[in-house]
Amino acid sequence: MSDAPILVPDAGLEVVDPVAAPAHVPAVVLGWVEAGAFDEAQRAAFKKARAMVRSALRAELPGFAWSFPYVRRRDLGVGVLAVEPVDLLDAGVTERRLAGWDFAFVVTASDLHARFRPFTLATPSQALDTAALSIARLDPAVRDTDMTDEERTERLAHRIAALALHSFGHLNGLDHETRPEAVMYPPKAPSDLDASSLAFTSENQIEIRQEVADVADPRMEEESIFETLSAPAFALKAVVLNWADIADTVLQIRPWRFPFQLSKLTTAAFSTLVVLVMTAEAWDLGTRQPWWLIIALSAVAIVGTSGYLVRKQGLLARRHGHARTEQQVVQAVSILLALALGMLTTYGLLFGTTLVLRTLFFDPAILDGWSASLGRPVGPDEVLVFAGFVAALGLGVGALGGSFEDQTYFRHVAYVDEET
Ligand SMILES: [Zn+2]
Repeated sequence: MSDAPILVPDAGLEVVDPVAAPAHVPAVVLGWVEAGAFDEAQRAAFKKARAMVRSALRAELPGFAWSFPYVRRRDLGVGVLAVEPVDLLDAGVTERRLAGWDFAFVVTASDLHARFRPFTLATPSQALDTAALSIARLDPAVRDTDMTDEERTERLAHRIAALALHSFGHLNGLDHETRPEAVMYPPKAPSDLDASSLAFTSENQIEIRQEVADVADPRMEEESIFETLSAPAFALKAVVLNWADIADTVLQIRPWRFPFQLSKLTTAAFSTLVVLVMTAEAWDLGTRQPWWLIIALSAVAIVGTSGYLVRKQGLLARRHGHARTEQQVVQAVSILLALALGMLTTYGLLFGTTLVLRTLFFDPAILDGWSASLGRPVGPDEVLVFAGFVAALGLGVGALGGSFEDQTYFRHVAYVDEET
């Protein structure tokens, strides 16, 4: 089967040509990818939903030249019970890059493979500016068999649009709300989407407008003043110009949950900790190290393990050609920073656990006996140095364990902001 996207001209959507738009109106492109097979009713509802999203965004966020191209990819998610969200996100990123879209929504009729909840309707990824949506559970006819075809299409379209706008909110860093009619109300069941007003609140609109204005700015690679920069200078400039975006993306990834979701990494790290804390030689060796060496070792451990896992788990987007883009730099820096923060969290947990174990089980007599070559009683400073020593080694072994995590799972943890 061919990988090439199948472009389908959509008579129902008038596409605003970004070039033809007035110069002062920034163009924003939100691309739709129809992934896999849809039946007639689903396709009709999907088309209606796209029109609803289009009119909602144009009405609520005027001041941008919105366009909504649509691509069909029959080859995606075929022959599986539940499609992997990261596979759809990857496909969305590819389409987005090839066509220069700002956001991509990949919609499938298959179920999405949820990792942390019984099921998921959508998986937005702010780091990739892409969301995967599933309409498999949205069909209202499964509960209410009396409804007419028109009612069914209408309700299904409303649910798809509500889910798409909710995901769009996440891609722009919005938080959840508790009002059931709010777009950002987290749906617990597909029927919760029926209550959505399909309208962002005015606070939502202000937040989205700022984000989208950033996105709609001309990209660095499109501006001639940046053409002469070397690769590192280009990357540095991109980071300086986009630091707020990077910080926001890292927050959406919530890297502090990594140690709790990457069980192989955490198991390896904590096994190492237990062995080291219970070994006299480890205390003897650890407590006599100078503090600066432990700080340097810790820094190397955090940076080294982040870089190792990013590489080993294939977290950075595979490049097509050598064209450098601002988006790629921002994505790479965000994911590296998120991994580093995840590793820092693991390091902190190891450090704290060592101190707790020391307080619970070790009295001065044992510690002084176990650290005989230190030549003096073990004080609080030596305990901190030892905790740093254990945490750095534990993190190193943890990263080796982390490299055995399933790549799809690791990417899911790193990229998917929430299982909606
Ligand atoms: Zn949500």
